[in-house]
Amino acid sequence: MVQPKYLVAVDNTEEADEVMAAGRKLADATSAELSCITVIRPIIQVYGPLELGGYSQELVELEKQVVELARQRLDTLAAEYHINSAAVHVCRGNPAAEIRALAEKLGTDMIIIGTHARHGLGLLLGSTANAVLHGIGCDALVIKVH
Ligand code: AMP
Repeated sequence: MVQPKYLVAVDNTEEADEVMAAGRKLADATSAELSCITVIRPIIQVYGPLELGGYSQELVELEKQVVELARQRLDTLAAEYHINSAAVHVCRGNPAAEIRALAEKLGTDMIIIGTHARHGLGLLLGSTANAVLHGIGCDALVIKVH
């Protein structure tokens, strides 16, 4: 029997624990292999080159530190949920695009992602979950986090 592959997407917030727990539970129940991903959005994408002004070099260094910190935190969280370190991924870019790209690269059967109550258009799906769902070639489990 082919072992299913699941990918859990977590940000660096308290809700990461809930999303990871849901992924672990489902993976155990279905004997699946679990991987996880955190994506760091590049500072240049958040602010744009003009706003960075003369601080761009310092901010590149800061971004490297943030990526390193994200890796340490994801490694710690992944270890708690018995995820092999080779299955821990920290990427840089647009979160939804990177999650979709890694899912495709790994041959993921299901992406597990969180969402919380929002107002207006985002009432049912959080923005990242919503963006990930558009155009994925696999299933997705959306966890309502509290
Ligand atoms: P949000 O877009 O804030 O509603 O995030 C909802 C969910 O999307 C989170 O619980 C995570 O599962 C996932 N997510 C959001 N941002 C990231 C990120 N930078 N990297 C990986 N997953 C993320």
